[in-house]
Amino acid sequence: MPQIRKFPSLLDTDPVKVLELLVGLESVSVLGAIRRADDSIELHIQTNASVAGCRGCGTFAKLKGWRIVNFVDLPSFGSPVSLSWHKRRWRCAEATCPVGSWTEEDCRIAAPRCKMTDRAGRYVTRAVGQAGRSVNEVARELGCDWHTVNDAVVAYGAALIDHPDRFSEVTALGLDETAFVRQAPYFKTNYVTSIVDVGAGQLLDIVPGRGGQESKAWLAKQGQIWKAAITHGTLDLSSAYKSVFTSELPHVTLVADPFHVVKLATSKLDEVRRRVQTETMGHRGHKVDPLYRARRLLAMAEERLSSDGKTKLLSLIEAGDPKGEVATAWHAKEAVRELYGHQDQALALRWLDELSADLTDGIRPPEVRSLGRTLKRWRLEITAWHDCHYSNGPTEAMNNLIKRVKRVAFGFTSFTNYRVRALLYAGKPDWSLLPSI
Ligand SMILES: [Zn+2]
Repeated sequence: MPQIRKFPSLLDTDPVKVLELLVGLESVSVLGAIRRADDSIELHIQTNASVAGCRGCGTFAKLKGWRIVNFVDLPSFGSPVSLSWHKRRWRCAEATCPVGSWTEEDCRIAAPRCKMTDRAGRYVTRAVGQAGRSVNEVARELGCDWHTVNDAVVAYGAALIDHPDRFSEVTALGLDETAFVRQAPYFKTNYVTSIVDVGAGQLLDIVPGRGGQESKAWLAKQGQIWKAAITHGTLDLSSAYKSVFTSELPHVTLVADPFHVVKLATSKLDEVRRRVQTETMGHRGHKVDPLYRARRLLAMAEERLSSDGKTKLLSLIEAGDPKGEVATAWHAKEAVRELYGHQDQALALRWLDELSADLTDGIRPPEVRSLGRTLKRWRLEITAWHDCHYSNGPTEAMNNLIKRVKRVAFGFTSFTNYRVRALLYAGKPDWSLLPSI
């Protein structure tokens, strides 16, 4: 006589019940399981729906046969699980009914045409979209291929990111470009535009192209009330984005992003340095050439140069810049940076006007004159910053997030994949909605 042990009263001790409890699917019977050679588990189930009505005429359907369909499920006790669902094939008993035959479906187990169970689909959407894990890594964990995971992320993710309440009123809207295809000789680099709530730091959407029709169409789709609430638009110094704003949001104050303004001045300095280098030495920069040696010091902010660094910079410029062109471009760059030290908008504008007049003087190097012309053309947008301090800074942060998503995926070739992944990660979807979609 075995010793009778006392179990806690709520404990299920019936083996079938324990198994069903572990499987955790409603209205499902477990038929059996196999542990495969690769250590994954093949779990066979069927639903308890032993009767069905025809959706055409409502009469009781006849069982026509069975069809086994395999789904990737959540791992169990550390092993990947494949769910083999023995689906009933039904046939309408009414000879004249056009419905004919069909296979049973149950969305609680798996959505139609999905290769993954519903719960696994939600799990991978969170793992890839929220935690930023790579599709490959998650596919390995579930013992399936890349496409199965990606398809589920795109299907479940699209419902989350296209939810009408994902974003609400925006006061400052930013447009910024990102390259989205890995740069390699045999790949064309495509650009996409990030549309960002600059105030809240939320990625609203991603559209193909750099400005142009796609960006305009996106804005045109938004409601009048939403558009009317926008007071500021931030952008780099590109006429494409300017035309998006002027055609779709003519009432907003445009703000040139300080980061891009300083970047332009720095790149003009770089152009002058490379041209003077070639003109004076007859070749591109070598590591012994004074201007090549000065390139990092030139790019540094003046206040960050040590006194040794400053002395070195001056002597390198003296040696490599006979006409003082690099020095002029360096002063122009520092003057542009100084512009952002001004607190007062009217003063900043006067200062910018004087600066651009000086830089466009015929005696200046051509690159510096070009910088001066751009500053003149964008004078109002540049100094609009002094009034509101909105910048693409948050957009840059968004782009860094997007770059992280790209790095994890080793470059995207599909725009849809890219959009879903970036918006799940940086678009602040309401993850609490995931169980209900
Ligand atoms: Zn029927």
